[in-house]
Amino acid sequence: MADVPAECTIKVMCRFRPLNSSEVTRGDKYIPKFQGEDHVVVGSKPFQFDRVFQPNTTQEQVYNACAQKIVKDVLEGYNGTIFAYGQTSSGKTHTMEGNLHDTDGMGIIPRIVQDIFNYIYSMDENLEFHIKVCHHIIGFLCPQGCTERFVCSPEEVMDTIDEGKSNRHVAVTNMNEHSSRSHSIFQINVKQENTATEQKLSGKLYLVDLAGSEKVSKTGAEGAVLDEAKNINKSLSSLGNVISALAEGSGYIPYRDSKMTRILQDSLGGNCRTTIVICASPSAYNESETKSTLMFGQRAK
Ligand code: ADP
Ligand code: MG
Repeated sequence: MADVPAECTIKVMCRFRPLNSSEVTRGDKYIPKFQGEDHVVVGSKPFQFDRVFQPNTTQEQVYNACAQKIVKDVLEGYNGTIFAYGQTSSGKTHTMEGNLHDTDGMGIIPRIVQDIFNYIYSMDENLEFHIKVCHHIIGFLCPQGCTERFVCSPEEVMDTIDEGKSNRHVAVTNMNEHSSRSHSIFQINVKQENTATEQKLSGKLYLVDLAGSEKVSKTGAEGAVLDEAKNINKSLSSLGNVISALAEGSGYIPYRDSKMTRILQDSLGGNCRTTIVICASPSAYNESETKSTLMFGQRAK
């Protein structure tokens, strides 16, 4: 980590997806009222964020506002975390991954990977880079160890992500539990060494596609799936507690309360850069989940 102290920055962005086809077919009312670049009103309640993205915002615009600066900081030796938070089907995976193999459709992760490699390719020969990636899946119905892997190209990183997705798919299908929820944490470590001066820098980035934040009662889960859902919801509230303690500048940060916050500990708070992208549906059908999602985001401010 770079030793230049900097303020702990937590940025909270909010992204609304378009109405989907079943919401349109059902004739759902479109509820968000956008005001300027940073306000949205839902059910007469106003919410303010660092930025609010309307449904027509492109993947590139979201990347530029949410991630570009963090990538620059990681290349300068800082640690950072980007989260996507929201109920199932609100656009978290679209935001974090999007279409991995399509220039316009790529989400934050493939754009970050591309930017990191473009930076490496542009540097002079005295700089040696080691890029390591690791995909953690947290959720006890599909336990998956994290395999660390050194990578040499953006394509290799995309392959790692595709592999992780299909392993997870197999695990979930084997359990015959399609309602299984889990957190996906994609970790990228960047180590640089100047072979002429022997100066070293390392930075780390966690890119987190959180499990859906919907209330357990709404999922109709039973048995092991219900236990998992409760666990997941507990870990989301632990995350909320950590982030609001950081935002308040509290002296005690409850990192040890969940597995996820323990993993993320060295990349949350302190010198680290944190961005939360709150993802929401614009449909009246989801109004109460949307409000609690937006409230979660407000706690981090
Ligand atoms: P989540 O990961 O939160 O469960 P997804 O990212 O899978 O939700 O999104 C659900 C569906 O909505 C997907 O088909 C996705 O492509 C689509 N979608 C999500 N956000 C957007 C957006 N901003 N623009 C267009 N389609 C979107
Ligand atoms: Mg998803």
